[in-house]
Amino acid sequence: MQRFCPKCGKDIEENIDGFCIDCYLEDHEILTIPVFDIYYCSVCESYTYANKIYKNKQLLEKELLKHIKLKHLEDAKPSLQIVIDDQKKEYFSEVTVRFLINNKIKKIKQTQKTNYKKEICVACSRVAGNYYTSIIQLRFDNKNLQEQILPSIRKRIQKIVHDYNKKQKDLKNQINIVKEKTEKGGVDIYINEQSHAQRIVQNLSKNKNAYDQKYSKTLMGVHKNGKKKFRYTFCIHYKDD
Ligand SMILES: [Zn+2]
Ligand SMILES: [Zn+2]
Repeated sequence: MQRFCPKCGKDIEENIDGFCIDCYLEDHEILTIPVFDIYYCSVCESYTYANKIYKNKQLLEKELLKHIKLKHLEDAKPSLQIVIDDQKKEYFSEVTVRFLINNKIKKIKQTQKTNYKKEICVACSRVAGNYYTSIIQLRFDNKNLQEQILPSIRKRIQKIVHDYNKKQKDLKNQINIVKEKTEKGGVDIYINEQSHAQRIVQNLSKNKNAYDQKYSKTLMGVHKNGKKKFRYTFCIHYKDD
């Protein structure tokens, strides 16, 4: 059994391939940490990385960990922390790797700078811009009926939105009710995405007073990428029992 490191001559108890751990780590790049580009939204306190939004730092770190490359220590378990120090303007990722060598746990730590910027996320800027593609029209056969059942319909919509958004990890896919407008015979509810409007309408149409449902789409123009821009309208009629 080897007693001395052939590189530095140090007495070694623990070795990798015959070298002391320090020399081994010096000669082998076992840990590769990319320079991450991270955006922080101060409105909703989310993080964006590679165009995806993460609700909190833990979820972001979980994702970033997937991009850490380990060589020579395949069975080691790395952990990652993003360190954000706004006062010192220091931003970096810190990766700790624990591995077993001669039945002892050895720990190495490495840091890498992070490109960190504050920017309003896509979800928040859409809210700010009142972005919507769809309108749900709720129409009531008479004013009494509207006064009677509209509050519970509103509550129901709030619950659908709340339950759905709670489950969604990606903030870009959240339901956003942009506004409600009073119209003749009822109200119009403006919603960011068509699929979300559809989800709500499907649920609302189960109401015993809902008797008629219409769907239409109107061409609003063309996106920069050539895709057609539509406005989707869903209409639900309610009648007395
Ligand atoms: Zn050595
Ligand atoms: Zn945001």
